[in-house]
Amino acid sequence: MKNIVVDKLQRPLRDLRLSVTDRCNFRCRYCMPAEIFGPDYPFLPADKILSFAEMERLTAIFVALGVKKVRITGGEPLLRKDLPDLIARINKMDGVEDIAITTNGSMLKTHAHDLYQAGLKRVTVSLDSLDEERFRQLNGNRGKVKRVLEGIEAAAAAGLTVKINMVVQKGKNEQDILPMAKYFKEKHHILRFIEYMDVGNSNGWKMEEVVTKKDILDTIHANMPLKPINPNYVGEVATRYQYVDDGQEIGIISSVTDSFCANCSRARVSAEGKLYTCLFAANGFDLRALLQSSADDQVVKQKIYEVWNHRVDRYSDDRANHATRKKSKVEMSHIGG
Ligand code: SAM
Ligand code: SF4
Ligand code: SF4
Repeated sequence: MKNIVVDKLQRPLRDLRLSVTDRCNFRCRYCMPAEIFGPDYPFLPADKILSFAEMERLTAIFVALGVKKVRITGGEPLLRKDLPDLIARINKMDGVEDIAITTNGSMLKTHAHDLYQAGLKRVTVSLDSLDEERFRQLNGNRGKVKRVLEGIEAAAAAGLTVKINMVVQKGKNEQDILPMAKYFKEKHHILRFIEYMDVGNSNGWKMEEVVTKKDILDTIHANMPLKPINPNYVGEVATRYQYVDDGQEIGIISSVTDSFCANCSRARVSAEGKLYTCLFAANGFDLRALLQSSADDQVVKQKIYEVWNHRVDRYSDDRANHATRKKSKVEMSHIGG
């Protein structure tokens, strides 16, 4: 077995997304609609979730197969107790060049300092509107803009680089594109607009509800002229632009109208330890069972190698195909964004 693995489309394994919980304190309609993720929803019990020691072991094995970047996600990752402990374990690992988390920001003010102290350098905060009423509607009446903005400020003050993710949906928050762009331009944080996606089986996605990359760019460019800039590296998810006047960067993640499967190097491990090779996959390979067996690291590595080596996923490139769209998919809160 070689130390670098490529899949059937010659894509290397470079990024690992670790979900640390399937629970969340928000109920964003596009991810965990409240009527489905209600009080009786069968979230994973604590004894079915990977421990930090298991995540550390797995991460080291992924790194031995070529992973350089690790992103901690969820659910809401800051709901996981002692998260800085996991960050510290991964941060000290040879071969990890970048570690980041994606969070809804609601608890970031409390945790920013400890995360930074543990070695975290970057955080991505999701925020879909600056309007309190609209934000409440979008997140299922759970979160406040003020609290998220305080979290962003606390993270920046603690020394973390902050990026913002905004999912744009037609008829829901397109009017927030410009206010968000202006606000984060002034704050000098990179804002990334995400095309609304058909993740999971419960968000009722329709193509007509997608605000396209072109629409988003046109809206901003008409008010604050933009120019394209080169990617930082091959396979970067966001296409980058900067404002002509001050050079502040923004990004667009266009997995619907301009998909990027050809360079997708991301593996996802769910909180229960299943390995998914695509955000839109139906099934994952049970790594936790393997970790809890007598298998040594070489055996686990060999298995991950085989799974990645057989990978053919390119869902977004094939989304227009109706049969592809009809297949069952894992929920996004299960494996993270
Ligand atoms: N709870 C954390 C958060 O919201 O940042 C981390 C997990 S969340 C699943 C990761 C990212 O996925 C968020 O930026 C969220 O906005 C995005 N997301 C969730 N559902 C989406 C959808 N249907 N289309 C596009 N992005 C989505
Ligand atoms: Fe929670 Fe993030 Fe999903 Fe919203 S997008 S419901 S904050 S996991
Ligand atoms: Fe990667 Fe799957 Fe998204 Fe394509 S659809 S970019 S293969 S996660």
